[in-house]
Amino acid sequence: MKYQRSSALFDEANQYIPGGVNSPVRAFKSVGGVPVFMKYAKGAYLTDADDNTYIDYINSWGPAILGHTHPEVLEELKIQAEKGFSFGAPTELETEIAKFITGNVPNIDQIRMVSSGTEACMSAIRLARGFTGRDKIIKFEGCYHGHSDSFLIKAGSGAATFGNPNSPGVTSGTAKDTLLARYNDLEQVKDLFANNQEKIAAVIIEPVAGNMGCVLPENNFLQELRKICDENGALLIFDEVMTGFRLAFGGAQELYGVKADLVTYGKVIGGGLPVGAFAARNEIMDHLAPKGAVYQAGTLSGNPLAMRAGLKTLQIIKNDAGFFSRLEKTTEILDTEISKILTEKGLAHTINRQGSMMSVFFDSENVSDFDEAQKANHDTFNRFFHHMLTNGIYLPPSGYETYFISDAIKENEIEMTLEAVRKFESL
Ligand SMILES: *Cc1c(COP(=O)(O)O)cnc(C)c1O
Repeated sequence: MKYQRSSALFDEANQYIPGGVNSPVRAFKSVGGVPVFMKYAKGAYLTDADDNTYIDYINSWGPAILGHTHPEVLEELKIQAEKGFSFGAPTELETEIAKFITGNVPNIDQIRMVSSGTEACMSAIRLARGFTGRDKIIKFEGCYHGHSDSFLIKAGSGAATFGNPNSPGVTSGTAKDTLLARYNDLEQVKDLFANNQEKIAAVIIEPVAGNMGCVLPENNFLQELRKICDENGALLIFDEVMTGFRLAFGGAQELYGVKADLVTYGKVIGGGLPVGAFAARNEIMDHLAPKGAVYQAGTLSGNPLAMRAGLKTLQIIKNDAGFFSRLEKTTEILDTEISKILTEKGLAHTINRQGSMMSVFFDSENVSDFDEAQKANHDTFNRFFHHMLTNGIYLPPSGYETYFISDAIKENEIEMTLEAVRKFESL
């Protein structure tokens, strides 16, 4: 494959955009090389600036769960665009999507729309603090909850890729209110509560982590967190920005049967347009402005184009009874078959998977927390990434990311993917 045009575009972008990209992980820093500039996306495929095509396993980091540019969503967007792009005033459509989501997701009565997952998580902890009157939060190493100050502490993903999980610019005053625990380590959480009695407002977690690679909760971790939060009067926040409408319509709450107090959404909820949301039962949401005292706002929150794309995407998913089992089946086949091929090649690996999220770690040991994700062989991952890319398979460009399988990936795409894996030469 040739990348001349991407290469030239990246050089030019570097003059006007910091690092040439508007979000760090796109720069291929972790895997090396020049990022591929895209120009079209349709179904399972992306086309880059040099006219190379790829089967997409990133899917815009999750939103394109139906595959790219789904015709029904596109039609909705065209109809809405004719009516207006943004009103800065309430619309019936916002109630429609709120009603649809609260009616189909467990444990939430009200939902507030924002424009990104970052905003959703940032607002959710403000609300948790306002509601409980406490300052501290517990987060887990390797979990990413967007780039607001409180969360940029062992934040996985892009931050981990760059090796400086604690970003300059985050004040020590802010950092001191974020307590860290190891994912899947209940004892650490218990210790933190014991040492910070009546100071902890909330525990926030990715119920299935996707920002240190895909890491699953083990030994009823989520159920146990629920108990600990109840015993200590703290709120349990599920960051379902990745898992919401992906692992099940009701996300990890539904899949694991655990009730969170606050839930954040993003990615799939906007169907490819910039949307985030946070939701909870009435008792908590009533504290939010303009009804309550906890302030939160957004010029483009509930934007009609974004709401149209989101609602249509969610309706398509909801009306398709076989949707989640189909995605899971595709992912299971990829997991099993990739694993077989890597084993034949004598390559140590662990594949973690839940629903349509999965990642391949080049490590023979289990990966159940951030330290273990770091121990995997990231050099092999980087070579694997570039091999797959030049064979037309677009994987996330970091060993700390998750593959997002879309409904557009069918037998043909699976076979092409496996064929590319077969050609991988381990050193
Ligand atoms: C992507 C992500 C976010 C941040 O969402 P943005 O829309 O990128 O701000 C927050 N939490 C999780 C779990 C995510 O995967």
